[in-house]
Amino acid sequence: MGAAHLIEVFADKKYHDVYLPKMFAGEWQGTMALTEPGAGSSLSDVVSTAEKQDDGTYKLVGQKIFISCGDSDVVDNVVHLMLARVKGAPAGTKGISMFIVPRERITEDGTLEHNDVTSIGVYHKMGYKGAPIAHLSFGENNDCQGWLVGEENKGLSYMFQMMNEARISVGLHATSISSAAYYASLKYANERLQGRNIAEKNPELPQTPIINHADVKRMLLFQKTFIDGALCLELQCSYFADMERVTEGDEKEKYNLMLELLTPVAKSYPAEMSNFSTSTAIQIFGGYGFTKDFIAEQYYRETRIHTIHEGTTAIHGLDLLGRKVMMKNGKAVMLLMQEVMQDIAKAKQHENTKAHATTLEKKLGQLQELSMHLMTVAQKEGVEVYLSDATLYLELFGTIVLGWLWLKMTNTCNENESIDKTFAESKFLCCNYFFEYELPKTEGLFTRLKSTNRVTVGIDSKLID
Ligand SMILES: Cc1cc2nc3c(=O)[nH]c(=O)nc-3n(C[C@H](O)[C@H](O)[C@H](O)COP(=O)(O)OP(=O)(O)OC[C@H]3O[C@@H](n4cnc5c(N)ncnc54)[C@H](O)[C@@H]3O)c2cc1C
Repeated sequence: MGAAHLIEVFADKKYHDVYLPKMFAGEWQGTMALTEPGAGSSLSDVVSTAEKQDDGTYKLVGQKIFISCGDSDVVDNVVHLMLARVKGAPAGTKGISMFIVPRERITEDGTLEHNDVTSIGVYHKMGYKGAPIAHLSFGENNDCQGWLVGEENKGLSYMFQMMNEARISVGLHATSISSAAYYASLKYANERLQGRNIAEKNPELPQTPIINHADVKRMLLFQKTFIDGALCLELQCSYFADMERVTEGDEKEKYNLMLELLTPVAKSYPAEMSNFSTSTAIQIFGGYGFTKDFIAEQYYRETRIHTIHEGTTAIHGLDLLGRKVMMKNGKAVMLLMQEVMQDIAKAKQHENTKAHATTLEKKLGQLQELSMHLMTVAQKEGVEVYLSDATLYLELFGTIVLGWLWLKMTNTCNENESIDKTFAESKFLCCNYFFEYELPKTEGLFTRLKSTNRVTVGIDSKLID
């Protein structure tokens, strides 16, 4: 869908009829073919080449690795949206173009013929096993034809449009898998009898379901508050995307900026936390969780990819602190803060959320102070020091955003009497958990991010040997 959408938006209309009906119908598969052996996080180092031919098509040569659904016999054709450099193009990101490169090209009489795209390997992965991930070779026999999407040298900007959508869906996938793991562990916690209430001394009493132990409740609440909060984050981003589409002028800019700011968070926070959340589900199963007899271990394996593909967490940390926070002189952050402050003001009006609202307000102040401090660090000590703990900044930012969303959810419960009482009580409990157990973890992050002790910059890498 993503690849087809890219053709629809950026490629010449003459390609629409050729590819879109088959791709949208699922008869042909689409891919994003970006990664190369020497260019993973650093896409500016792509070396695949494209040479323009007299008929306006291009000859492609290169290798792409880790391509999701890069090849299979489930479909008749695979259409790669491939990044390559036209001969003579400038170095770096400015010289990257995008091409439509089908595995089978269409001849003049409408039949399919091999387009010199070959699978030279398949990766054996720890999870995500339903998708074949291929190592592809293009143009081994100098006969791989490609068609330019849009204009030369603008390929990366087209790809990023598709990747922003993909990033929000990565966050959503991580949340969904965590949700499945949570429900599996919840069911088990209600069924498994083990031990008795710690205050009970009588071994004659029947054993209790483990959900009655405080620590098991904590593990379930950890999963539930992460999942509901992360789902709320993805929905908030979808709402901003919708509003951006239907508004104009300043309003449009406002939603666009907030969406841009939250995209690295919406991708990476759920992806990272999902590793802990699915691991916690295993823990609730005890020894059985470690076996293949129960599904928890599969969820743990399945979710591990999310911090790696569509940009690793480090790359999103760099994006957030290095670009998004400073975008338009900090306008995106300012707009988001205004949204958060509105919810804080509402939450302060209710006894059951007043204290949490005050806590979040304090955290926001600390975050602003920290961001100013880091700007000074950038000026005085340079960009390498400034960005050295960008991943921690992303974690901090994500945790505070989740705090905001928990207040937003409880505001809705406080303001709507029609909401089911038990549902609302459960939301208040989760919000309380989040502010008592999760938000305080930001203190350690603040301490580290403000420290002037440069542990990872300027040291000899050999010392880590
Ligand atoms: C299952 C799977 C499916 C995939 N599907 C696709 C696909 O469909 N299409 C596609 O094009 N690619 C795909 N990929 C590739 C994926 O996008 C890359 O693996 C990812 O971008 C990381 O690149 P890399 O593996 O080369 O790691 P590297 O870039 O070598 O990174 C290794 C480590 O170094 C860190 N690092 C690298 N550069 C920096 C930096 N500047 N600052 C700080 N830390 C840094 C990273 O964060 C990471 O921890 C897939 C990968 C997998 C595993």
